[in-house]
Amino acid sequence: MNARYCLILLTAITASFVLQTQVDADEYLNGIEWKAPAILTPGAAGSAPSDAVVLFDGKDLSAWNGADNWKVVDGAMVAGRGSPQTKEAFGDCQLHIEWSAPTPPKGSGQGRGNSGVFLMNTYEIQVLDSYDNETYHDGQAGAIYKQTPPQVNAMRPPGEWNVYDIIWTAPKFNEDGSLKSPAYITAIHNGVLILNHFELKGDTPYTRPPKYTKHADRLPIRLQDHGNPTRFRNVWIREIKAAEGKQVKEPFLRNNKGEERPVE
Ligand code: MG
Repeated sequence: MNARYCLILLTAITASFVLQTQVDADEYLNGIEWKAPAILTPGAAGSAPSDAVVLFDGKDLSAWNGADNWKVVDGAMVAGRGSPQTKEAFGDCQLHIEWSAPTPPKGSGQGRGNSGVFLMNTYEIQVLDSYDNETYHDGQAGAIYKQTPPQVNAMRPPGEWNVYDIIWTAPKFNEDGSLKSPAYITAIHNGVLILNHFELKGDTPYTRPPKYTKHADRLPIRLQDHGNPTRFRNVWIREIKAAEGKQVKEPFLRNNKGEERPVE
């Protein structure tokens, strides 16, 4: 018997043993009756899935308050005077937003292509032209302003479109105003992870340390006017909802005859 034949025989015996074990093994069941996950139609390459709230689809600014001085040009909303807020309020959410720094680039540091996405009107993930543009790292694109830099700089050059996909967990507050649980953010910039379940220390002002102040469970998204004509497009958001289920019995094991017994 040559070595190759031996190996094939051994593989076959192992496979049949594993298969037999799987058939004989009891199945673990958690006893939870899950609600069927909602069926949706995913969008093509970054476009909104069927259950998203579309905040800007290239046509008009009807989802926003305070956008009177922003313009829609060639399917993009262009930053002007004033910082628009969504008419609708959001808590835990998945936000998709595409943005492009002004071209040709003007200014430097914080003065170049500065805007920002404020989750819950309070917590800023920075929008800045950080392509070949030095500034303090916890103020560059993808930073949680004054709290943490992004893990990497995944910027595309001015004029090209950057994409943020943001997963936001809202902070929760106790009745007395104290913090029950902090906010968390995970963010992907142009397909690259830049913030991984980062725990926010509070809000993101320029003039003082971050702090939490009790606020509503849902608040608008705000886009920052920082005096630069940053463009945005394809903005959509989904509310995050946990899978729903009810523990209808204790977890159990089930054998191949359908007989059930408790987990020891
Ligand atoms: Mg900003």
